[in-house]
Amino acid sequence: MGARRWSLTDKENDLPQIFAIQLMEHLVVPTFVLDASGVCILWNLACERLTGLAASEVVGTRDHWRGFYRARRPCLADLVLRERSDTIDALYSVNRSKSFGDTGLSAENWCEPPNAHGARRYLALDAGPIFSETGELLAVVETLRDITVQKEAQMALEALASQDGLTGIPNRRYFDQFLEQEWRRAIRDDRPLSLLMIDIDHFKQYNDLLGHQNGDECLKRTASLLSGSMLRTTDFVARYGGEEFGAILPGTDLNGAVRVGERILEIMKASALPHPGINPKILTVSIGAASLDAGTGSPDGLIARADEALYSAKRLGRNRVAIAEPITVRQDTLLTA
Ligand code: GH3
Ligand code: MG
Ligand code: MG
Repeated sequence: MGARRWSLTDKENDLPQIFAIQLMEHLVVPTFVLDASGVCILWNLACERLTGLAASEVVGTRDHWRGFYRARRPCLADLVLRERSDTIDALYSVNRSKSFGDTGLSAENWCEPPNAHGARRYLALDAGPIFSETGELLAVVETLRDITVQKEAQMALEALASQDGLTGIPNRRYFDQFLEQEWRRAIRDDRPLSLLMIDIDHFKQYNDLLGHQNGDECLKRTASLLSGSMLRTTDFVARYGGEEFGAILPGTDLNGAVRVGERILEIMKASALPHPGINPKILTVSIGAASLDAGTGSPDGLIARADEALYSAKRLGRNRVAIAEPITVRQDTLLTA
């Protein structure tokens, strides 16, 4: 007989209870049980397998957290025990408790079981109380499911949905989401936010002279050069559509945005991607910059202004940066947006 995975302070000879415990012990679902004082009284075989932590190290202690986290913190069963469901959002990636009933809690989280050797596992957790006939809390049972594979597949799909198929950089969908989020943050924190709309010059001619496939290759090279010219980690470039790109520059005012735009022109010049249809025969871009300094409008309004500035850059001769004057937005307009 192997080591016992449970402990009972009394009723050691209560056969029905021992039978119930043994059932739980061999259940294929990873399960552990805390008594009303928070001490672990059962850590089943499947839980040992999932975490790599032996029942002998946990049963009789309050160290069940070691099966899932590197530092001491409450597990879902502890929250049920202490009636601290109010802390679940701060402690877990996903809270599914609403669909789980009144007294139990359900959540998902990235965990680091000892046997994962530093790798993370994504676990779905359900914790529910067990009451006596007189309504006294006897124990809390927590069951676990390893759903890492499903979570990773979901994350890969989400990443794919935000990515431009040709160039591999973020797509317009992601650009719109990011701009909306940064626009709100800029207004809330009273910080500047700038936008660059970047359009390849004479690209129709490029396609006409070199063919669509070479055009595609050129778009990939340009996307990679543009991404490489973002120096701050918070700045990013997306393919806005066709041969047009958008750069979002949080915390950057119009002067800063113009400097980033000029750097892009220099990088394009230094990279010297060939364009046989223009003189000199080097691919160029035109850039419209717009900035929101503390103020109003909407993300769409900011894009429209950067587009107007881009149009000016084209009209003034291309291969240049043109600006739209900053706009000012009042905080109260944010509430209705
Ligand atoms: P301008 O300097 O005024 O921007 O001129 P332009 O020729 O770049 O602009 P126009 O809007 O007339 O043409 C854009 C061209 O970009 C036409 C279109 O075929 C090409 N284009 C858009 N998307 C793609 C793509 O995914 N691959 C390729 N190869 N070409 C594309
Ligand atoms: Mg163009
Ligand atoms: Mg265009």
